[in-house]
Amino acid sequence: MTGTRRDDIAANLDEVSRRIDEACLAAGRDRRDITLIAITKTYPASDVDILASLGVTDVGENRHPESADKRAAVTAPLTWHFVGGLQTNKAAAVTAYADMIHSTDRAKLVRALSRGAEQAGRAVRCLVQVRLSDTEGRAGVEPPGARQLADEIAGCESLVLGGVMAVASLGVDPRPELERLALVAAQIRSDHPAATTISAGMSDDFAEAIAVGATHLRIGRSILGERPSLR
Ligand SMILES: *Cc1c(COP(=O)(O)O)cnc(C)c1O
Repeated sequence: MTGTRRDDIAANLDEVSRRIDEACLAAGRDRRDITLIAITKTYPASDVDILASLGVTDVGENRHPESADKRAAVTAPLTWHFVGGLQTNKAAAVTAYADMIHSTDRAKLVRALSRGAEQAGRAVRCLVQVRLSDTEGRAGVEPPGARQLADEIAGCESLVLGGVMAVASLGVDPRPELERLALVAAQIRSDHPAATTISAGMSDDFAEAIAVGATHLRIGRSILGERPSLR
């Protein structure tokens, strides 16, 4: 690990923090209501160590077992988020180390997560991933099905319903989609008042996400640099 890498990450983190403060000010929101999750997928465990030493408390990964390996290699006490598409047969393994699963998008996955969390003896927070656009391949449950999926998560003893998550479309104004997410979040909150998490906002749209009420930002590239093009 070079001093240079640490300096780069520190500078990026400062800049992101400044922009979060600015967006909070513009939206009239309290910065303390927002959690920054550094998305560390494709980056080494040594970068996670650097982030932890710079005061980052939350990190996110999108693939098992890469995420499990990194989790095992890092000793700093962090909150670990799983934000990627999850196959049912990997669900139990992920519940053993993830504190919050953002990508809960179907009843079958809820049942698998529930069994895994029960076996692991852990209470795992789950977010309903909501699909906001018709774009081919976008994951998530359609908004009309989100409430029911939320009920299913809330009905599992070993799972905690945290709220909602979405990935807004790239290359278009993200606000209409993010506003739709805020509406779904409010509906779910009316049934489950403790489900206050809104996970939205990535490198390109986190200011807009803050404006519509996001509580958890998932930021990768702006902190760690461009990833190789594959993911
Ligand atoms: C990669 C990823 C992010 C972070 O995206 P950046 O553009 O690098 O900030 C956020 N959410 C999910 C679900 C991701 O897969």
